[in-house]
Amino acid sequence: MNYTVNGLDNDHPIRDMLFHLLPTELPERVDSVPDGADGLGVSVTDTGMEQIVRVCCVRGGKQVCAEQRAAISDDAGQTKRALTHAVKSAIFDALSPFLEVQPEWGALTGVRPAKFARSFLEQGMTPAEVAALMTETYHVTPARRALAIRCAGLALDYKNKQNPRDISVYIGIPFCPSRCSYCSFVSHDIERAGALMADYLDTLCAEIIHTGEILRQADLHIVSMYIGGGTPTTLSAEQLERLLSTVESAFDLHDLTEFTVEAGRPDTITEQKLRTLARHGVGRISINPQSMNDAVLEKIGRKHSAQQVLDAYHLARSIGFDAINMDTIAGLDGDTPDSFARTMDALIALEPENITVHTLAAKRGAEQHDRARNVRKQDTVRQMLDIAAKKLTAAGYSPYYLYRQKFMAGGFENVGWCRLGYECRYNIYMMEELHTIVSLGAGGMTKLVDADGKKIQRMNNPKYPYEYNTSLEKINAGKQALLSWASEL
Ligand code: SF4
Repeated sequence: MNYTVNGLDNDHPIRDMLFHLLPTELPERVDSVPDGADGLGVSVTDTGMEQIVRVCCVRGGKQVCAEQRAAISDDAGQTKRALTHAVKSAIFDALSPFLEVQPEWGALTGVRPAKFARSFLEQGMTPAEVAALMTETYHVTPARRALAIRCAGLALDYKNKQNPRDISVYIGIPFCPSRCSYCSFVSHDIERAGALMADYLDTLCAEIIHTGEILRQADLHIVSMYIGGGTPTTLSAEQLERLLSTVESAFDLHDLTEFTVEAGRPDTITEQKLRTLARHGVGRISINPQSMNDAVLEKIGRKHSAQQVLDAYHLARSIGFDAINMDTIAGLDGDTPDSFARTMDALIALEPENITVHTLAAKRGAEQHDRARNVRKQDTVRQMLDIAAKKLTAAGYSPYYLYRQKFMAGGFENVGWCRLGYECRYNIYMMEELHTIVSLGAGGMTKLVDADGKKIQRMNNPKYPYEYNTSLEKINAGKQALLSWASEL
């Protein structure tokens, strides 16, 4: 879709909304669109009191125009947010009449719909008022707004209960036994990148030790810890032993209420590894099937069978793990609503404490045809998500956190479901940006969240293991920022 802009410096909100509404069309800014040709024109007029946004969209010879107004206030941030909202809303109003299927999340483009809903609850609105706002202003469907408001309420409870010095720690292991076809993470196939692993663990343990000292000096309380990836259980039992011993000795874990390791791929799980996790106080693990259909598993490049998922699950139960999460993905190549329903039945029959239902997302930087494939799948994915919601609700699970990604099939969402009292706290803290997450390892992004949760300072570790392995000095020096941030609490 070609678009023109007048009177607006930042066209990011325009591109964001165009990607949201027309995921298969590349938005391209042009100087002008010929009369009658498909295109979108955005103009902003500043009257001194308000900014008037006018948008006209032409498609197939038909034109729809819309107007929105944004108040100008003394608060520059507030003025900017109002303008962004007005631009997105006007584009939605002008473009949505041309869409065959209205997006479930309406004009909401962000990755954190529950955080969005929570911001209104925190301003004193009731859930019913937030629901009305989400419908009338943002055109969110009843099912999606109920999901967002439920998760927002839960996050607010967690926020109100936490101490200002509470933080969480994330440790990343960006290696996997093989690469899944849909993967958009920086994760290295162990067969090809295994040589990096030993150095990676050395660097990671050194970063953990240094960070542990800083966190003690800063008097910060680690309440949840999450080792994710990649697939952390790609590490051998000996390597896991070293990693977890380092964690135990480096960090003050007196306030820790939850320790998760994403075991992930069942083909990496052994009794020795699980016993190592249990011995070091890991109470929550993930065993991720994605599908219980062997043909689908093969098609997406997972080198394990559904039977291996069952074996790993029963092994974990026999060792005593009583908080297990299992991930699925709606929209995988080769999967159908019937086969997805059988996956859900198989997982629910196991009675894990958490089941996370993802929607297939095109990889970052995906080609247009990947995005087009996801759009074609939107009806199938909608059916799958409905099946999941019905079956999980009937089995006593409730949604507790959610997030969205760019280029998800149908623009839907990922939802964590749990049995009563088994919410993964880390997922809530992290996704709702309730408190600081200190992230260690390659690709780790530390987010320093200020006391009222409004300002977030980010610090990135190098993305790839080979860069990370040679950057320890710089990474450790950057951790000083934690001390100055903590002194303001
Ligand atoms: S297990 Fe996860 S991180 Fe690893 S390749 Fe598959 S999708 Fe990527």
